[in-house]
This record gives sequence, C-alpha cells and structure tokens, in this order.
Amino acid sequence: MLTRTCLLRKGAAGALLAGLGVALAHYAPPLPESVIAKPARQFGLPFAGAPGPDTWLLGQGYGNTTGAYRQRRSTYGNLQGLHAGLDFSAPCGTPVRAIGDGVVAEVDGPHGSPPHNVVIDHAGNLSSLYGHLLKRASVRPGQRVTRGQVIAESGDSQLTCISAPHLHLEIRDRSHQRLFNPVPYIAADWESLALAGSFGRGYEYDLSAPRKWQTPETQPEVRRGGPLLNDFARPWPPAPGGAR
Ligand SMILES: [Zn+2]
Repeated sequence: MLTRTCLLRKGAAGALLAGLGVALAHYAPPLPESVIAKPARQFGLPFAGAPGPDTWLLGQGYGNTTGAYRQRRSTYGNLQGLHAGLDFSAPCGTPVRAIGDGVVAEVDGPHGSPPHNVVIDHAGNLSSLYGHLLKRASVRPGQRVTRGQVIAESGDSQLTCISAPHLHLEIRDRSHQRLFNPVPYIAADWESLALAGSFGRGYEYDLSAPRKWQTPETQPEVRRGGPLLNDFARPWPPAPGGAR
C-alpha cells in the first residue's frame, strides 16, 4: 500500500516537473506598459451576426466573477483568482473569427483553455487567445489572418457540446504574463449585449468595498502568478461551506 502511494506520488511529481518544464520553456518576462497598445476599441467580436438564443450570447464576464471566486484557489489560482477572459456562449461548431489582423502564433500551444486553442499576435504587442475549440483549428502558425476571418469552430470546455458550449477569449500581452480586460479593446455595444446575456450580473462582492469591480469595464488586469485579488474579507455570495 505504502509502495503504491509512493509510486503515485512519484508519478504526480513527475507530471508536475514536466508541466513546469513546459511552462519555463515558454516563459517570457511581462512586457512594459510603454510597448503595449492601449485599449481603443481596435478589435471586433469573435462571432459574426446578431446575438440571440440560437446564435451566441455573452456568458461569463472577465474578471471578478462569482464563478472565478469559487475556484480562486484551484482553476484560477495562477490568475490571481480572476476569470481572465470573456465567455461567449454558442452552439458547438459556431465559426470563430479573428478579432483583428495579425499572425497566427500558436495552434494548440501551451497557453491554456483546452481541448484546442489558437493564439494570434497583433500590432501593439497584443495577443488574442481563442479557447475550448471543438477541434484543431484549420489555420497554421505563421499564417497571416485578417479581422473577421474564420479561424476555428467553437467547442465546449466540458467536451460534451451540451453542458458548457462556449468560446473563451483572452487578450494578453505577447509575453502571456499580463491578461487584460477585453471589453475596452473590442468595439461592441456592450450594454445591449449585457441585457441579453448573464454577463455583468455575476460579480463577487467584497462587502467592505461593495462597488469595487462590479461592472464589465472596471475589471483589473491579471498578472500570471500574482497574489489573489479576490481573497475578500467579507465576500458575497459567501464561499461554499463558509470557508474563506
Ligand atoms: Zn472562460
């Protein structure tokens, strides 16, 4: 029994080291503020056509969401406890479009949001990541793409296409260490979109500062590996089981 436990531990440690190796191999220091393009609504939406119950809707917002709060020490522990992208709910197979002109940097690379993802590098040292894709994207690294070009098909983070079908979209600096709120970068009628989706109504409160990080526009930047931003003294809704 003891041997088996040790073997299991060894396996886990091996996997951890292998994971760390991948992470270190791809580590680049965060880029300074001065070389990163400021948000100026320079990008478009990743889906074409009008939102609606049969097409696409906004699901989870970026930032201090209640969902991220509940998983702040697990899924989002390395992202300061925040949801570092926007979730667009859509049936599996919905065509995903490049949000701006750029060059495909990675297809199924190491930067998260499985089972399949794409990263596009844009001007201003920005990168966009499209995650939970249905299958390996048809574009190739090094390929130039234009805004609105179909690059992939949306999928489901739980791989069923009936439980959580959505696209996870992130805007990062090119080092992948800084993750930005996509809302001010993307030209869209966010207020109308928020009326149709659950977007913007699911932020965790700190009752000590109840207006902090409660709107789509006012969410903080995430630094990969930084300290938790939402370890609130008086969280609402409370953490399951009353644990903080
Ligand atoms: Zn997401």
